[in-house]
Amino acid sequence: MTAHTISVGNVEITSLSDGYIRFPTGNFFPSVPAERWEEYRDELTAEGKLELNVGSFLVCSEGRVILVDTGIGEDASGFDDAHSGLLPQALAEMGVSAADVDVVLMTHLHVDHVGWNVEAAEEGPAPAFPNARYQVATADWSAFSRMARMNGAPYLQTQVLPLEELGVLELFEGEVSLTSEVVTMPTPGHTPGHSSLRISSEGETAVIAGDATHLPLQAHETDWCPRADRDPVLSTQSRHALMDRVESDDGLLIAGHYPAPGFGRLARIDGRRWWLPT
Ligand SMILES: [Zn+2]
Repeated sequence: MTAHTISVGNVEITSLSDGYIRFPTGNFFPSVPAERWEEYRDELTAEGKLELNVGSFLVCSEGRVILVDTGIGEDASGFDDAHSGLLPQALAEMGVSAADVDVVLMTHLHVDHVGWNVEAAEEGPAPAFPNARYQVATADWSAFSRMARMNGAPYLQTQVLPLEELGVLELFEGEVSLTSEVVTMPTPGHTPGHSSLRISSEGETAVIAGDATHLPLQAHETDWCPRADRDPVLSTQSRHALMDRVESDDGLLIAGHYPAPGFGRLARIDGRRWWLPT
């Protein structure tokens, strides 16, 4: 299954996948002792690895089409164990053409979230979504564009820096409304400007978490921090705040790295908070 759609009030959210990435548990969560994984054996692959979906979301609100994150792209060679390149076909299967997308919202600028931003054309790079504004938080743009100029990580050169030269980049800070129903929600720590997205319509709510959380078990193991979190203290604060807010809203918690389609709700069972897929 490559797509799955739900409604939040008048907003439609479709889950799309670009592929998956697998990691050894100790590599991904270096501060979590191996024995802590015993109770979560069912959540790992047969080889005992974590498998993360590489999810994107299409959010349709008030006539606007917002694509949240653009996957790894065609080249997953930067990962030891990954498969990618499925997003364009997933969009096509939904009947969505690249020209239909009004906004590409980047939760942050890591390699698995920006991979289909830019196409290499003969006459030079071109936006893969030709009518879209590409939005990202100022703090992420500052950090990653500086990094790109210093060490030249290839994906930053091909999928991130060209956005500015092409004139399609739009920076934001804090909470900004993409429509009256869809608002950015700062969740810094994983990266300096990491942003989630809060959807609110007709009394229903959802949060698209980005990488504020990578695994459903962080609903209760909320202090578990992946190696990729730039500032683990801040990312832990953001993760707690996000989970608490979703729980008090009784809303949907949607995450691109959770098992596809990544739609679920938080529930207390014997006092412990769980993410239960819808
Ligand atoms: Zn990610």
